[in-house]
Amino acid sequence: MTEKGGQPREPDAAVGTTPGTGVPTGEATRAVHAGLPEAEPYREPLPGPVLAAHYHLPGDPTGADYAYGRDGNPTWTVLERAIAELEDPAGDARAVVFGSGMAAISAALLSLTGPGDTVILPADGYNLLHRVRERLETGGVTVSTVPTPGPEALRTVESATDLRMLWLETPSNPGLDVCDVRELAAAAHARGALVAVDNTLATPLGQRPLELGADLSVASGTKALNGHGDVLLGYVAARDASVIERVVGWRKIVGAIPGPMEAWLVHRGLATLELRTSHQQTNALAVAEALLDEAARRGDVTGVRYPGRPGDPAHDLAARQMRRFGCVIGFTLPDRGFAERFLGALRIVEEATSFGGVRSTAERRGRWTTPDGVPADAVAEGFVRMSLGVEDPADLVADVRRALEIARGGA
Ligand SMILES: *Cc1c(COP(=O)(O)O)cnc(C)c1O
Repeated sequence: MTEKGGQPREPDAAVGTTPGTGVPTGEATRAVHAGLPEAEPYREPLPGPVLAAHYHLPGDPTGADYAYGRDGNPTWTVLERAIAELEDPAGDARAVVFGSGMAAISAALLSLTGPGDTVILPADGYNLLHRVRERLETGGVTVSTVPTPGPEALRTVESATDLRMLWLETPSNPGLDVCDVRELAAAAHARGALVAVDNTLATPLGQRPLELGADLSVASGTKALNGHGDVLLGYVAARDASVIERVVGWRKIVGAIPGPMEAWLVHRGLATLELRTSHQQTNALAVAEALLDEAARRGDVTGVRYPGRPGDPAHDLAARQMRRFGCVIGFTLPDRGFAERFLGALRIVEEATSFGGVRSTAERRGRWTTPDGVPADAVAEGFVRMSLGVEDPADLVADVRRALEIARGGA
């Protein structure tokens, strides 16, 4: 069911059936209806946020669905159902929501590993992973890192001892490299390890890690899943009940919970996830192609990356395991000054971090450093990560071409 060349999927492509009804369910239909309760006369279709620190709780609390607000909330429950339906439409996965992507990532890594375990992390993944690595090592876990593309990950998995978890981020942020989830998951499972995929960039409409063999799909819902740049949220989805039990237990003791309003906003936004991601990938491809054209004409744009573009180093592998390719592109301008002039000259694309929202954004990733001054991402000074929103493709292409012209004009 992979689309070609970054074009949107057929909007009504049948990809399954609504349980119990036999009615064909396409991606857009599923996104619109995910997690919603059965229709009941005179009730709202999407229940509003439940603002409660505690619930009426008579007598013995054993088995109570809702007792205290840190442990459960009906607004989380319907969103968790929705995310599980999107991550695993044909399976029985459950999802657990958190207050941010990092809360979800830390819950997965820290609650499922312990002293003596080995964990493999991507060397080029989200830049806070190295801080989680420090925590893991303090807790007696041995951590190795491998680059996302290429054969090193497989070799490292095959030679690891006491491997407990293989953590993949595909496509990687910000390098947009892709790894073969099926192949790596099979190798890690042969060694008895769990496999987690950071699915932030792809969204569950773009990639279903659990169907590709991963045990956990973990993501920041702050990005394209919510898509409006106004909420932080994260989640872990998994089929194995003991994995879910551990991360729920971790959420309870750390208290890394989402607010009910945030959970409700994300659920509300899921209805347009298919529309947004389709339009965003059309825009991402259009801008990537315009940049390649600029590169051919002027030679000052290099390293244009978008896994959805045929010809991209990651495209063939991405096309085998992804259903859509996301909204993020990367490219390198000659130097820091050029990149800063370019970002300053953009009128539609806003200079901001994060990605996945309805408004296009871009930033020079090299501006982020650790407290000791080390670059947070191993990227060139002129590297720009751009996230395409839902504006018109022609406007975005014109904005980018115009800003390049201005940047060429010098300071
Ligand atoms: C943003 C991001 C995170 C962290 O998510 P927050 O919601 O900001 O905590 C993790 N992984 C990836 C790939 C991200 O892009």
